[in-house]
Amino acid sequence: MSAQTFRNYINGEWAGGDTFENRNPADTGEVVGLFVRGSAQDVKAAAEAAEVALPAWSGLPAPARGNFLFKVADILDRKFEQLAAEMTREEGKTLPEAKGEVRRAINIFRYFAGEGARMPGFLTPSERDRVHMFAIRRPVGVVGLITPWNFPSAIPAWKLAPALVYGNTAVLKPASAAPLSAWRIVEACHEAGIPNGVVNYVAGSGGDLGPALIEAAPLRAVSFTGSCEVGTWLHREASKRRLKIQLEMGGKNPTIVLADADFPLAVENVVNGAFFSTGQKCTATSRAIVEERIYDKFLDALIERTKKLRVGNGLEPGVDIGPAIDQAQLETDLKYIEIGTKEAGPPRIGGNRLTGDGYDKGYFVAPAIFADVAEHMTIAREEIFGPVLAVMRARDFEDALRIANNIPFGLSASLQTTNVSRVFEYVHRMQAGLLTVNLPSAGVEYQLPFGGTKDSSFGPKEQGPAALEFYTDCKTVYLKY
Ligand code: NAP
Repeated sequence: MSAQTFRNYINGEWAGGDTFENRNPADTGEVVGLFVRGSAQDVKAAAEAAEVALPAWSGLPAPARGNFLFKVADILDRKFEQLAAEMTREEGKTLPEAKGEVRRAINIFRYFAGEGARMPGFLTPSERDRVHMFAIRRPVGVVGLITPWNFPSAIPAWKLAPALVYGNTAVLKPASAAPLSAWRIVEACHEAGIPNGVVNYVAGSGGDLGPALIEAAPLRAVSFTGSCEVGTWLHREASKRRLKIQLEMGGKNPTIVLADADFPLAVENVVNGAFFSTGQKCTATSRAIVEERIYDKFLDALIERTKKLRVGNGLEPGVDIGPAIDQAQLETDLKYIEIGTKEAGPPRIGGNRLTGDGYDKGYFVAPAIFADVAEHMTIAREEIFGPVLAVMRARDFEDALRIANNIPFGLSASLQTTNVSRVFEYVHRMQAGLLTVNLPSAGVEYQLPFGGTKDSSFGPKEQGPAALEFYTDCKTVYLKY
């Protein structure tokens, strides 16, 4: 059966052209879909359509825009099982993980649909007689949304839903490695009757489309999630035009394990944070910083637990870990495992490409644990974005916190302890935007702000009430009566 072609969506029309393949990373013989390779001209046309659509869309009452989002959520909900299976086929994460993500995308649409009826502003008394003063939020205008492959549904949802409900129009550029999940959201926007030009979708190479998006005259803001390298480039280019910019980028997230932790829970949380979703979460644990007193016992327990993980095709029941997203990421994982082997000795478990039965057609790597990793080593400092865990020794809590903070990144962090004072020390002093306690470092919800600090992020936070900051401008009004 020949693969379906998924066209770009510009000004309410499905636009054709040359295509590229989206292949299943667990079974590279399967083409999940063919996607139209958008051009710079397509991006320009999409931004212009979004500009034309802006006055009518931003002029709608916000609750009416919210009603469209409720419809999008209902459409996605009806296709729930299909969308989850498609996500596993295009991204490789296991079916339960994909179901969790699709559910999250649906919930995000419902959450922001409700925000249409809130959209808070400020009202405060004037010092002057009979002056009424207040500040309202207005849409920024045409926004560009650039998304990565690792959360191919949730990230497009958490950018597009607030953009729309707050009255903006959008051009969405999905990751080339997993463009289908975002396409399904755009299809749902079309089916929900969102007017032409409000939502536009252009797939294709980021290297070609990114510059076109930044240069598109109608664009006022760009929200990006992806690598630090591309984010840094975008920051430089966008600031030349004074575009509003939001960047969510890489991490090297620690989990600190103290001797007083609930031991089995801590083991579970580190393994979950490091290896689930194949370590391909921006919030994944890549450093376990373990207090000296329990280090050896904890390392042994981690290895024993990791032995039980099943790597395979995420559609198969019982599989815990899927493949790397593509050949390039697989090679990155293996390159860092080689570097780690030179620096710290061979991994205590895993680290090899899996071959043979069921593995030959995919990008599978056995989850790797390196022991006695020192702070200066590459595998303790650089983001790998694969199932590779560096286990590090710390003398005590203070030493663990120092090691945890001694990197340029600041996305997420986790602490495993039963000591409440340590929890508060960590909450105040850990340099990261997302903190967990007695949970894995990954696994966030949509109702609170999302984002990092230091080199991991730039600009206003995403999600929850924070999304208002990026997707609106503030207008202050003084009125004498
Ligand atoms: P990436 O290579 O930076 O790509 C992200 C997006 O940017 C893709 O749509 C990509 O398009 C596009 N892009 C590439 N070059 C561009 C350019 N010159 N201008 C504009 N856009 C361009 O990142 P990735 O490999 O997809 O994702 C992995 C990275 O994302 C990791 O570093 C991870 O930590 C980070 N991440 C961060 C968060 C967070 O919230 N902090 C969440 C998820 C992932 P193509 O696909 O066509 O190249």
